[in-house]
Amino acid sequence: MTASKTVTRFAPSPTGYIHVGNLRTALFNYLIARKAGGTFILRLDDTDPERSKQEYADGIQEDLQWLGLNWDRMEKQSERLDRYAQAADELRASGRLYECFETPTELDLKRKKQLNMGKPPVYDRAALKLSEAEKAALRAERPGHWRFKLDQERIEWTDGILGELSLDAASVSDPVLIRGDGQVLYTMASVCDDIDFGITHVVRGSDHVTNTATQIQIIQALGGKPLSFAHHSLLTGPQGEALSKRLGTLALRDLRKRGIEPMALLSLMARLGSADPVEVRKSIDEIAENFDLSRFGSAPTKFDVEDLVPLTSKYVSGLSFDEISAELTTLGVPSDIAESFWDVARENITFRSDLAAWWALCRDGADPLIDPEDEEFVATAKTLLPARPWNENTWSEWTAAVKEATGRKGKGLFMPLRKALTGQQHGPDMSKLMPLLQSVKLQ
Ligand code: GLU
Repeated sequence: MTASKTVTRFAPSPTGYIHVGNLRTALFNYLIARKAGGTFILRLDDTDPERSKQEYADGIQEDLQWLGLNWDRMEKQSERLDRYAQAADELRASGRLYECFETPTELDLKRKKQLNMGKPPVYDRAALKLSEAEKAALRAERPGHWRFKLDQERIEWTDGILGELSLDAASVSDPVLIRGDGQVLYTMASVCDDIDFGITHVVRGSDHVTNTATQIQIIQALGGKPLSFAHHSLLTGPQGEALSKRLGTLALRDLRKRGIEPMALLSLMARLGSADPVEVRKSIDEIAENFDLSRFGSAPTKFDVEDLVPLTSKYVSGLSFDEISAELTTLGVPSDIAESFWDVARENITFRSDLAAWWALCRDGADPLIDPEDEEFVATAKTLLPARPWNENTWSEWTAAVKEATGRKGKGLFMPLRKALTGQQHGPDMSKLMPLLQSVKLQ
């Protein structure tokens, strides 16, 4: 028997930009496909014409490309409506799809009554008892919606993260697959797609566990092969608070604007909530090699956006000169000093964008920072600045001369000089920085 080729998909609805929560889903599915040498599909769940927007569809693609999560194929549910209609006919013919006419208010009332009686608010299947004549009369008043008739048995599966799971189908309502206005809902569209595209593994958030149970029956009813399902825990804020409200502020594009590196984000997401430590990786291939879905747990995963800052800094400072040299050229760093500039700057930046300020400092000099009590001292030091060209010994020669002339030593000697040259209290090793200073404002 040949094992079927691994095919996964990431299936966002283009009704908003993707955020860190969706990213986890995208990344896990991507890594499973890549690790197995399989196929990764980007599927746009755009059957809701009112809420789906081209701007978001474009934005999702842009964000995934920024991260390097490239898809092998893209599919759109809005282009497959004929297929869904055909599947609905199949289900009607096999008696698994039935027409209902309750209005939202009626359904609400039923639910309230059930809850008052201490019963679970499960749809009572009243529509199954309607005669043809009653249905025709109701149809004349309002369009019917269609529900999938669940087999009321225990639905069981082995979840790739949560382990053995089961759900009593009698404890959930028969899912609506087609709305009164004819809109096919995600629950069925997704099953048709998963079957037709040969999806083998579905990873999604644990808010989809009940969907999975019902979709397992819909897959069977449409003659599809069983898939492997896995549900990752949902992200919470650093204190364990729900993130759902704040996810809007954790859009990938905002992180990108903030200067967060794709590899910092991917490295964190590939490990957060797993038994393994976060390690900053240099490539997605490296992340894929070290990815193991079975290492993830069911507990909610705490996410602190601020963790991305040190990871970004670690990734950026770990770049080799070859990896950064094109950017240095763009900034205007002359090629003969670019490598030494990178050696100095890499330890003193968090984001790539910080390079510009360091280069401006080297090129133009910084406005000196001179405390009133140091004015005379700095004025003396200025007269002792060695003649150019400056090299790695210039700093020690200068400070030795200033020490001799002023009698200062230690911090009292070095700090005012650093501040006078760089305008800052902290920064690179001055011996390495001095040869890079094309001009200083002190002179
Ligand atoms: N569009 C669905 C969502 O974003 C997809 C869920 C799935 O992966 O099946 O929740």
